[in-house]
Amino acid sequence: MSNYKSLNKVLSNVELLSDLGSYINGKWVTETTKGVFQITDPATPDEKVIATIPNLDVKEIDTAIDAGYKAFYNFKDTTIQYRSCQLMKLYDLIIQNREDLAKLIVLENGKSMFDATSEVNYGASYFKYYAEYITTQGATNIMIQPTNPNNKIFTKKCPVGLISIITPWNFPFAMITRKLSAALAVGCTSIIKPDAQTPLSAIALIKMVDQLDYSPGVVNLVVASNEFTPEFGLKLCQSPKIKKLTFTGSTRVGKILMKQCSDTVKKLSFELGGNAPFIVCKNIKNIEYVVDQAIAAKFRGLGQTCVCANIFYVHEEILPKFLEILKPKVESFVIGHGLDKNTTHGSLINKNALKKTSEHVDDAVSKGAKAIIKGGALPHLGENFYAPTVLSNVSFDSKVCSEETFGPLMAIVPFTDVHSVIERANQSDVGLASYVFNDDINELFYISEQLETGMVSCNTGLFSDVNLPFGGIKESGFGKEGSIFGLDDFVVIKSMILGLQPISK
Ligand code: NAP
Repeated sequence: MSNYKSLNKVLSNVELLSDLGSYINGKWVTETTKGVFQITDPATPDEKVIATIPNLDVKEIDTAIDAGYKAFYNFKDTTIQYRSCQLMKLYDLIIQNREDLAKLIVLENGKSMFDATSEVNYGASYFKYYAEYITTQGATNIMIQPTNPNNKIFTKKCPVGLISIITPWNFPFAMITRKLSAALAVGCTSIIKPDAQTPLSAIALIKMVDQLDYSPGVVNLVVASNEFTPEFGLKLCQSPKIKKLTFTGSTRVGKILMKQCSDTVKKLSFELGGNAPFIVCKNIKNIEYVVDQAIAAKFRGLGQTCVCANIFYVHEEILPKFLEILKPKVESFVIGHGLDKNTTHGSLINKNALKKTSEHVDDAVSKGAKAIIKGGALPHLGENFYAPTVLSNVSFDSKVCSEETFGPLMAIVPFTDVHSVIERANQSDVGLASYVFNDDINELFYISEQLETGMVSCNTGLFSDVNLPFGGIKESGFGKEGSIFGLDDFVVIKSMILGLQPISK
């Protein structure tokens, strides 16, 4: 069914992909009447096929739903100690297989080995965090005294039920683990639909889940070509047996899913698109530090992360120095295949990503932007390679100022008045992340309070962490992942009201 022999050559643990397919009710589904689809390596000139996977028949989604629904009624009552122990075992397995998992991410996504290894560490950290955190959660079931002195209210956080998890290609591993860790921690069962372009690291993750002591149906994985995605999505949204959808992806698809979930009034959490401003104020002394943070915030994953800075507002007095330091650093990037040791930056995911980046560059240049680094496509490396572009004097009516590029374009807008920058930044419909650099703590605090985003990164370009309540506001979605707040979206609070009869003395 598959040609994963070539993948075997790069993996130390070939068992990770010994079953290429879906996983339903504790069994791998590797046979199909619905044909197969191919996974390609975006960072090869000919987009080499690296795996062939059977399309799950859409009817089997019902089997997964029934399995997950049934499994919930046992899993919800498992002890915290059991769930904690399973999460820790999963963490250990991921760490043991870290290099293989990172290689799979490189091969399916195109990012560099450094970025992929960071993703595995980051993704694994959620299992460890919640394994430890839930052992302290007994205290969250509390008693409240209502107005009537004869009554008592007891509240309990209960797992919401069977959930569906839909994730994108840009963090094919960590976007699943950030959700699955919380679900397993509180006692929810799940059905995971990874992105059709990048299902390999998800399959390897579930292969590890399969080694643990979970009952059949607790975790299910459904995989098919993207031509079947709308049908899969409809089933996962409309089933009354599924009590929650947690989705990471574009705002466009988020809106479709929200409508589809309305008939069953599902609990939702959405991590959607962003358009992060990166503001560098006049009083910055260590410009080199800010440039390094800007590079990290813009070019990690070649600009394909949801919290990537999109518009750089740099005060015009420090802009010349900023550009002077930035230029050689960006020009020193080594672009290539992620598995090559020297590669600092890999390829884009596909031709559409390259097209969108080029469109944003052309549009900004046509409106007067000045090329500091021209960048552009690198067809000799492959169709998805693009060298970063840096543009200055970008006019605010350029597309990049209102749309997320999701690619390696650094668009710089010089400014003099920070208040107008805040006003412009807040005009955006989305509000995921923002960055601000300022050497005056009072100004820094003021600006961070004004910015309408779910996360404001102050004087640092890299902030995502298991301890952070990750999530956006406005059309970037709602709900938080990770941190002490990350379990709230996977539970419902149930109250028991106890009426006590007065005792005659
Ligand atoms: P996308 O097109 O929304 O796809 C994301 C997922 O949704 C994929 O698994 C996709 O499946 C699935 N999907 C698409 N249409 C669907 C439908 N009708 N029903 C059910 N599922 C459907 O997003 P993308 O372009 O791949 O990812 C990039 C976006 O994700 C960016 O906007 C980025 O900012 C956002 N993102 C946000 C966060 C965050 O935490 N806020 C993190 C990462 C990425 P197939 O592709 O398999 O068809």
